[in-house]
Amino acid sequence: MLLPLPAATMPTDSTTALVLQALQFAAHKHRNQRRKDEAQSPYVNHLITVANLLANPGSVTDPITLMGGILHDTLEDTQTTPEELEAAFGPAVRQVVQEVTDDKSLPKADRKRLQIEHAPHLSHHARQIKLADKISNVQDVITSPPKDWPLERRQEYLAWTENVVAGCRGVNPALEALYDQTLAEGWQTIGHP
Ligand code: NDP
Ligand code: ZN
Repeated sequence: MLLPLPAATMPTDSTTALVLQALQFAAHKHRNQRRKDEAQSPYVNHLITVANLLANPGSVTDPITLMGGILHDTLEDTQTTPEELEAAFGPAVRQVVQEVTDDKSLPKADRKRLQIEHAPHLSHHARQIKLADKISNVQDVITSPPKDWPLERRQEYLAWTENVVAGCRGVNPALEALYDQTLAEGWQTIGHP
């Protein structure tokens, strides 16, 4: 049962409380979804991974970025509206989630190109979330890729993330170093095209 999250009573003095509220909200919104790997992992695992990467090793402590990381796929992959995010978590969280959300009215190829073009213009909050999201997805493409993806598609995905991450650099050296290390391990594991 999802408890209501009235913004007026939301604690503002505890990052932990805010992060847990975001996690409860995201877990509820994604409750019937799975990731694309063979084992159909629970969707929420990816959100926890992204939040944990931001905190460790990213050393992110500000609640807007941590909540944004947890909520980053709600607009893209669930029926959640920006207004709902703002009512529950405030305008800053709504804004950062919108920043990392693709325009779903566009074809997939355009969305992927626009992620590369938009990355350098995103806020520091959003660029760190993008970095953590790409690390999580690259880790998954290496060890638990979407089922039925041929090797070439996995390689193309890794190469595409390099172009998105290029625009996210300069905001979090630890996350950037982990991305570089993860990608290098990826090329070693699945082979460079
Ligand atoms: P998708 O965008 O369809 O899938 C990748 C996304 O799925 C990730 O970014 C991640 O997004 C999510 N995801 C869920 N589970 C996993 C998992 N286990 N591992 C990794 N990611 C996961 O695929 P593409 O990136 O390939 O983009 C589609 C584009 O590819 C289109 O332009 C299409 O035309 C083209 N295409 C390419 C083919 C090829 O062989 N190269 C074949 C067919 C289409 P999130 O974190 O947001 O959930
Ligand atoms: Zn994601």
